[in-house]
Amino acid sequence: MEKHKDTMIGGLLLSKSVNVIAISASELVETARSLHGLSRVCTAAMGRLLVAVSMMSARLKTETDSITVTFAGGGPAGNLTAVGHRGGIVKGCITNPEIELPPNADGKLDVGGAVGKLGEMRVIRDLSLKEPYVGRCALVSGEIADDFANYFLVSEQQPSLVYLGVRVEPQTGRVRSAAGLMLTPLPDCPDEDIARLEALTGEIASLSKHIDDGETLKDALDKLFEGMDFEVSDELLPEYRCDCGRERLERVIISLGEVELTDMIEQDGRAEIVCSFCRKKYEFTENDLRKLLDEAKKHAEENDE
Ligand SMILES: [Zn+2]
Repeated sequence: MEKHKDTMIGGLLLSKSVNVIAISASELVETARSLHGLSRVCTAAMGRLLVAVSMMSARLKTETDSITVTFAGGGPAGNLTAVGHRGGIVKGCITNPEIELPPNADGKLDVGGAVGKLGEMRVIRDLSLKEPYVGRCALVSGEIADDFANYFLVSEQQPSLVYLGVRVEPQTGRVRSAAGLMLTPLPDCPDEDIARLEALTGEIASLSKHIDDGETLKDALDKLFEGMDFEVSDELLPEYRCDCGRERLERVIISLGEVELTDMIEQDGRAEIVCSFCRKKYEFTENDLRKLLDEAKKHAEENDE
């Protein structure tokens, strides 16, 4: 059956006492897989992280706001980072994209084994204010969804139900479907409503299967929340997109400073930088580097004054 385009839906549930954000992100995660050459287990790990960060970023206020989440769990996949912008636009990178592991005891992709759990997750909310807000939290399992739920509870005092699901084609490793859901009870949410949400956990776990079967996200949510007064407030088009560019990299090179830049020119006579989020290659000739060296000198003089 034909799959539907990636979408994100925000809304309210149970007489507006629960905040809902849900995403279907099969294309977005497949883009990450093909860009980075992700193994099956890394597709699941990176996919879950991208899905979560996309949902967290959906309602950022301005273009320059961002949320960056890093998992440093000490596992063989290394560190995983995802950056989200308004509307659920995300990009990600991973230290060892190609490592593969045997399935875990449940016969599933061993995301916890790949990510590791002997470390922490860091969340940087840069809301275009002076100082970004940085939160840190020890990992629970490295399975990503548990870790986010624990982070929201411990670091942001905001209990949330977090579901992240990525289904991978066993033969080819391609993404069959990816989906996510976050349910956040508002402060005055009655206990019986929280109990109703908890009772949905089993059904929520099959959201990525429904998307895989060709259901739209909206239909899947309407079924899941039947009789629970589900109101949609916004629909967005999440996407994997990198915002790198030559100018930004020029600023990075200038910031290396005169000494290092002179070294680079004398030893290599050129520079090639590959963006770690989209693998795009940027070449700088000796001439380019000399111009940037002039800029670096200018900056140094300005700073001296
Ligand atoms: Zn890039």
